Amino acid sequence: MPDEMSNRMADGAWGEISKKVSNEMRLEFDSRSCNESFARVAVAAFLTQLNPTLEEVEDVKTAVSEAVTNVIIHAYPEGGGKVWITCQLREDVLCVEVRDTGCGIPDVKRAMEPLFTTRTECDRAGMGFAFMEAFMDTLEVASERGRGTLVRMSRRIMKKTERRISRPKGEDASRRGISCPSQTEDGKCTQTALPLETSLVKKGKD
Ligand code: ATP
Ligand code: MG
Repeated sequence: MPDEMSNRMADGAWGEISKKVSNEMRLEFDSRSCNESFARVAVAAFLTQLNPTLEEVEDVKTAVSEAVTNVIIHAYPEGGGKVWITCQLREDVLCVEVRDTGCGIPDVKRAMEPLFTTRTECDRAGMGFAFMEAFMDTLEVASERGRGTLVRMSRRIMKKTERRISRPKGEDASRRGISCPSQTEDGKCTQTALPLETSLVKKGKD
């Protein structure tokens, strides 16, 4: 199933990145909290080929951690289950997919609103998707009830030559910001019809 959903998103955010795939890696592991740090470190290690700054590595690790934690916490209420990660390097862009075959998300647009959580009893803040959006350049989520969820995100890594004229330290995080609920209603958030009970939400930076 994971590839099925991935195929349906073929023309999504990654499709808009017209850069050729220069390297790819895939991971499959059990949906267990002890594997979360492994996942983020593995993606960070793969990313080092683009010579990222520490800040870029930390941003990507945070986003991957949130996506994987969501699978571990929400996707398989009965326990068990797998997590699949695919990473691609497309020139200077890292593309990451995190997939599961769990319970799915009934309303993706709502789930992506900051502070929305279905697990208040576990002290969740409802900020996972907001962090993914803030720390990556694009975020796309597709989910099918009872079949699983696919989170697809990308981040461009600045070249060394660009860094010399780069933004002042600290500006990056504030530029990316965390959207407040009203911002989720703006034109950057679109709902696209997918086959029965499937919803897809795309968010991207201009
Ligand atoms: P936090 O990430 O701050 O600990 P949270 O996980 O509840 O809290 P989000 O990561 O923003 O917040 O996710 C919002 C909601 O989307 C979750 O409460 C959950 O209902 C749903 N969700 C997210 N990922 C998945 C998934 N892979 N499978 C099923 N449901 C999910
Ligand atoms: Mg979360």
